Amino acid sequence: MGLPKCCKCNHPFSWRNIFRASFKFSQEIKCPKCGTKMYPTMKSRQKMGIATFVPLVISFALQVFGLPFKFTMLIFLLLSVLGMILLPFLYSFVDHEEPLW
Ligand SMILES: [Zn+2]
Repeated sequence: MGLPKCCKCNHPFSWRNIFRASFKFSQEIKCPKCGTKMYPTMKSRQKMGIATFVPLVISFALQVFGLPFKFTMLIFLLLSVLGMILLPFLYSFVDHEEPLW
């Protein structure tokens, strides 16, 4: 597992660059070296969806099992932070936009 690289010049993207790109609606990222605009692959977008969905499902399940709300809230926050930290590693980029489905 490593951070994605530019598909043109192989320049590695920084964690912060990818993290910032993931908050944009288009999620495009520009290579700081060669200036190529890249978009996350459909697979990355799906992983991103799962990464945001999993903490929600787990906290909901804990709530169903009768754990105190404060505790499930804490788990939810921890999992969300963990997801955000790992997310840039799950991305891969291509130099054209893929349709979502
Ligand atoms: Zn590049």
